[in-house]
Amino acid sequence: MDESTMNKTVLEVGADGVGIITIVNPPLNLVSVDVFLSLKKSIEEAVQRDDIKALVITGSQGKFSAGADVTTFGKGIKARTDFGFLSIEFATDTLEAARKPIVAAIDGPAFGGGLEVALACHARISTSAAQLGLTELQYGILPGLGGTQRLPRLVGLPKALEMIMMSKRISGKDALKLGLVDAIAPRDTLLSTARQWALDISDYRKPWVVSLYKTDRLEPLSEARIILNLAKSQARERTPNLTHPLVCIDVIEEGIVAGPRTGLWKEAEALLQLRQSDTCKALVHFFFAQRATLKIPGITDMALSPRKINKVAILGGGLMGSGIATAFLLANYHVILKEVDHNLLLAGIGRVKANLRSHAKKGKMTKEKLETVSSLLEGVLDYDSFKDVDLVIEAVLEDVSLKQQVFADLEKYCPQHCIFASNTSSIDLNKIGENTTSQNRILGAHFFSPAQFMPLLEIVRTEWTSLQVLVDLLDVSKKIKKTAVVVGNCTGFAVNRMFFPFSQAATLLVERGADIYQIDQSITSFGMPMGPFRLADLVGFRVAVASGSQYIEKFKERVHKSYLIPFMLEDKREGQSTCKGFYLYDEKRKASPDPEIVKFVEKARRASQVTVDPKLSRLSAGEIVEMLFFPVVNEACRILAEGVAIRASDLDIASVLGRGFPAYRGGIIFWANFIGSKYICSRLEDWSRVYGKFFEPCPYLVEHAMKQIPLVMLSPLKDTLKTVDF
Ligand code: NAD
Repeated sequence: MDESTMNKTVLEVGADGVGIITIVNPPLNLVSVDVFLSLKKSIEEAVQRDDIKALVITGSQGKFSAGADVTTFGKGIKARTDFGFLSIEFATDTLEAARKPIVAAIDGPAFGGGLEVALACHARISTSAAQLGLTELQYGILPGLGGTQRLPRLVGLPKALEMIMMSKRISGKDALKLGLVDAIAPRDTLLSTARQWALDISDYRKPWVVSLYKTDRLEPLSEARIILNLAKSQARERTPNLTHPLVCIDVIEEGIVAGPRTGLWKEAEALLQLRQSDTCKALVHFFFAQRATLKIPGITDMALSPRKINKVAILGGGLMGSGIATAFLLANYHVILKEVDHNLLLAGIGRVKANLRSHAKKGKMTKEKLETVSSLLEGVLDYDSFKDVDLVIEAVLEDVSLKQQVFADLEKYCPQHCIFASNTSSIDLNKIGENTTSQNRILGAHFFSPAQFMPLLEIVRTEWTSLQVLVDLLDVSKKIKKTAVVVGNCTGFAVNRMFFPFSQAATLLVERGADIYQIDQSITSFGMPMGPFRLADLVGFRVAVASGSQYIEKFKERVHKSYLIPFMLEDKREGQSTCKGFYLYDEKRKASPDPEIVKFVEKARRASQVTVDPKLSRLSAGEIVEMLFFPVVNEACRILAEGVAIRASDLDIASVLGRGFPAYRGGIIFWANFIGSKYICSRLEDWSRVYGKFFEPCPYLVEHAMKQIPLVMLSPLKDTLKTVDF
């Protein structure tokens, strides 16, 4: 794009005396410092001109503005013209205090700084499909252009807090109900409606509203304090490790207690601080890492178009198969669910229907859609209806010979073009396809439980997987609303392989004296959704043992072999499904520690012939986090060194979206770089001297530690996997 046609605003004056100022910074009309300076200049010029009575601000190409440029977050403020001060000098003194009325005409996105420009206008007209939101908190900052002060005054404190705290985006139609916009207009009459509104204000036929000093929607101080205190305790509970949501509430409170202009100054100061915080840097990294997953060298740049997938077959209606079927139905695919007998089929279909009903119950789908979607599901016990299937996803038990048989069957019954994907957690895909001649259409489609909700899809390519098949599955992943990370084939692939040492480290520590419940507590305090033992209960010990055995077989020289879970299985403890695992579960699935667990720990300790290390019973939460996550970093380094992942940021996305590693820590590699490879490596070396090879740092990590460089530096984008045209 020509620089001269970007990063600016254009002022045009109509015969009716209304000046239209258009933000021109395609494709999203981001509000850069240059755009603000140009907007300020256009408004100042319009206020001076005798031929202009009123103004409308809009965005080019049907998009108001998607907000500030995220690349500028996480960096220091260089000049007074930067965002902190724009709040007062531009939005308040130039825009809101202009001598001529200004109306925002909103279509497409109006997010962050974009919406804040609109909030400072004297009225807002939008299309019903426009999307509005103050989304700054998701980047670790707060609305910094007066949004913390104006939104509560326009829609009331509870709604404003809900929108700001959750970075919630609402439609123009909903914004009208809240009073955030003044009227809705169809797209083709949006500008004319806004023009007329501006003229009506100018001629006193409509009120000239200055949002910053509006008081009618704001709760009285005593009530406001109760609402704010509640918001603070909710924020502490939801995100105990984060400070920026609390800072944001304090800024809103300041405006209510000391007046909006004081609130604006506090907002500007807070923005200056938060923009340079580690949380902001991590969240911005996460945002760009997620965008980067869309570009896969050697695949997405090959100009191949995805083929249309109409009919999908899922093999196995268990936990995963039913979740995967739900995800496909929600995206309107025709789904065949195959099981081995009538009762299992009924149970599988029952699970899918229950998933769909719960979706509708939460208001995410209408009753009509529920009926339509349910009618797209077909249950079968044989392969008769597989002759026109385009994609099969196998989700049968984690058993190599069963999977080999299933894939050989698929080759017999499915058409030549059909894609064969396996949801295996850990089995090498080449083994699975051993009895077929279809290696070029076999790949991994590794979903995470519960598959209908978890946002990650780990796509595993073997050395034979065709590019066309990869392009097809990437397209499908977008349609079923998953973020796809493409990785190479190996035992456990990227996500499970990376996190296997996490649970291994946990059992190693317990066998040598650490406390199960303290470990889980430390890991959840760090920000993980649950600790390793609670997770093992949820996944179920049989699944954990089945996938763990693949890993143990492959990497036997360095794994920690534990007897703890096998001994518990012998005693018919299988995890949450049997109400007994590392925890005891009541009828409401509430977990409580089980004093009997000591018995199994001692038995496992004797079997492994290890002695208790008293130091491990006194570990701090920080030490526990290090001892569980540094082995994960170590395995992630091996994955990078082998080229299983094509870039380090993919492992960040995989750790956050697949395992719930906190996004505000940026992902596993970002976090490791924050801590420093030298420190991680030296700790692993210390532990390996005491506890053995399991902790030994890999050469890739050692090399980075010696050179003291970030973990990504030595890893060029590797694309060594052989591909065969389909
Ligand atoms: P599950 O035991 O809940 O379900 C497996 C189902 O497959 C059973 O209902 C069984 O009757 C059915 N089945 C067996 N042979 C079949 C055949 N020939 N045709 C059709 N159906 C057949 O197991 P699950 O937890 O859903 O796991 C399924 C797969 O997904 C495994 O490979 C597992 O490793 C993988 N996986 C599991 C998880 C998890 O959290 N449970 C996560 C990711 C991947």
